[in-house]
Amino acid sequence: MKVSSVKRRGVARRGRRRLGKLVIFGVGLIGGSLALALRKRKAVAHVVGVGRSRANLLAARRLGIIDEIATDPALAVKDADLVLLAVPLGQTAAVLAQIAPHLAPHTVVTDAGSTKRDVIANARKYLGAAFARFVPAHPIAGTENSGARAAFAELFDGHKLIVTPEPETDARAVRMVSAVWKLAGMRVITMHAADHDRVFALVSHLPHVVSFALIDQLAGYADAATLFRHTGGGFRDLTRIAGSSPEMWRDVCLANHDALLTALEGYLEELELLRGMIEASDGQGLEERFAAARAARAKWLIKKS
Ligand code: NAD
Repeated sequence: MKVSSVKRRGVARRGRRRLGKLVIFGVGLIGGSLALALRKRKAVAHVVGVGRSRANLLAARRLGIIDEIATDPALAVKDADLVLLAVPLGQTAAVLAQIAPHLAPHTVVTDAGSTKRDVIANARKYLGAAFARFVPAHPIAGTENSGARAAFAELFDGHKLIVTPEPETDARAVRMVSAVWKLAGMRVITMHAADHDRVFALVSHLPHVVSFALIDQLAGYADAATLFRHTGGGFRDLTRIAGSSPEMWRDVCLANHDALLTALEGYLEELELLRGMIEASDGQGLEERFAAARAARAKWLIKKS
């Protein structure tokens, strides 16, 4: 499918690069922060918000995140240059089905979902010919807070956006979406969707499950109040992300089910190994394991800085 006018109408040069009409489904942390980042750089002309919660959309308009609240998804996407899906993953299919028949030939659709293979499968299923103008993407930036009130313009500064285009994806649509996120402060890298899902199962989805599990375990004891009273900085650091949206993380676990199960198996094996060493009072084994982990962490942090 040709994207004849993506370049001309999408992020056009009028002295500076500027996006025309941006429609955001899900004006929460991610959708709201993109709108604020583009507004801060005067890089978008008009932002329309579509949502599930009227109160959240009203807050988004009051906070200057969106210009307009749309109640009809079909009307909302009319003449849009870019449609961003920033909804929990379990909502993706329904939103795509709603908007597919109403997309103009120049409209590019993208998403911000934390997993990619399931989003791509849904986009392929529902968008038909417009699938060529669907750019799967994942901004690697976030906090444990949700909703429009959690959004801030600097969220993406200096962080990575991963795009996972498929063979059919129009290169101009990818360039347009990349340009938008670059305007929001991101560096863009490309990955295969399956590689993305494996990597993020290990570095993000598993740590969230572990964090929720640590809190859950403590909360289950009869003396939980006493236990929580005695927690320190380490426990707080390790469980910050258990303050994240349960709906979002339920959907991530379900969407990335196979890669996450593989990551969990590896983690359980590691725990089992440590459990065996503790049971056997194998101090040398434990120390070696902890030293190796500390060295790996130091190497990672040096590379990152
Ligand atoms: P959020 O909870 O802050 O915002 C999601 C918004 O979507 C909410 O305002 C909700 O009311 C709205 N919504 C729910 N169902 C909807 C529907 N059917 N139609 C329209 N709106 C709907 O969540 P978020 O953190 O902004 O996450 C959004 C997406 O971005 C998720 O897919 C998530 O996987 C991904 N993501 C999140 C992070 C993070 O750290 N939070 C980072 C990268 C990617």
